[in-house]
Amino acid sequence: QMNERESMFLVSKFAKDYFHETMLNTNKGKAVGLSYFKERDFTNETIEKFELGYCLDEWDGFTNAALAKGYNLKYLASTGLTIVKENKQFDRFKGRVMFPIHSMSGRILGFGGRILTADKKAAKYLNSPESDIYHKSKILYGIYQAKKEIAKQDNCFLVEGYTDVISFNQSGVENVVASSGTALTSDQIRLVNRLTKNITVLFDGDAAGIRASIRGIDLILEQGMNVKVVQFPDGEDPDSFAKSHSDTELKAYLENSAQDFINFKVSLLLKDSDNDPIKKAGVIRDIVTSISKIPDGIQREVYVQECARIMDISERVLFSELAQLLKKDL
Ligand code: ATP
Ligand code: MN
Ligand code: MN
Ligand code: MN
Repeated sequence: QMNERESMFLVSKFAKDYFHETMLNTNKGKAVGLSYFKERDFTNETIEKFELGYCLDEWDGFTNAALAKGYNLKYLASTGLTIVKENKQFDRFKGRVMFPIHSMSGRILGFGGRILTADKKAAKYLNSPESDIYHKSKILYGIYQAKKEIAKQDNCFLVEGYTDVISFNQSGVENVVASSGTALTSDQIRLVNRLTKNITVLFDGDAAGIRASIRGIDLILEQGMNVKVVQFPDGEDPDSFAKSHSDTELKAYLENSAQDFINFKVSLLLKDSDNDPIKKAGVIRDIVTSISKIPDGIQREVYVQECARIMDISERVLFSELAQLLKKDL
């Protein structure tokens, strides 16, 4: 079992190097893969730091290269790099630019591959399948590159996508990781919890992004961590925002628009409650539910006071609501 995983790591590392070299040193790699990243303003330094690459638009170019180097088809298949079907073998990531996914210690666990065309039929991103080495709910994209800076800044920015992580790095914000399209999990938060107690959630400025931030907040609070939220204008994501602003403007925006999770929830939820007392009660219950997830009693009390102040209601009401919820949890 241990040897099998070791073989999967080895073939994944080979693939990472192969996709990277193919992009930098072949005509098609340069004309298609590298051009794509250049069009997105990715620098050479970024391409090296994240070990980006390109899988040629051929049926089995990568698979054949790996087999020729002596890698076993069994591990090409178990990592999902090669799809084996009715005795035919082909490259899973054919024609896609490649984002290797590193473990905390820098081993290659899997890949995300982005399609280059605006083809509506194919998925924009394709990921390695779950395997003995790749569990998408247990890893955060960029954690290997970000870990030092997360500890140093004592804060971690959490974004949705690969390109958000990369753009931020290029803008000088390196303490950033992505959940990469999966709903945030407790295991992913635990990875960050080893490095800092502070997470700033930065999801896309659309309905899906806002929903995802709300879901993430309670999971982060449950681990006794502090959560802030930065909202982006509708239709923007951290990548597009970073691209249309200077490094200084980006950093100022992150600093000045970071909201405490209570302020974020209150302003968001109150927006559609139109002062209707029943809806307002629902908002209060929703926020107290978040507060009830915080393990530390003193911290809960501070947040109750803050919530009472912001919503202009008595602390007594909030405390009794909170007591009810905590009883239910027992
Ligand atoms: P880009 O800027 O390249 O268009 P993005 O990161 O802004 O990409 P989003 O649509 O915001 O893309 O999605 C966020 C993340 O969700 C992606 O980075 C990717 O990890 C994941 N994702 C998006 N679309 C898919 C898909 N069709 N299948 C699997 N994962 C996806
Ligand atoms: Mn290189
Ligand atoms: Mn996005
Ligand atoms: Mn984007």
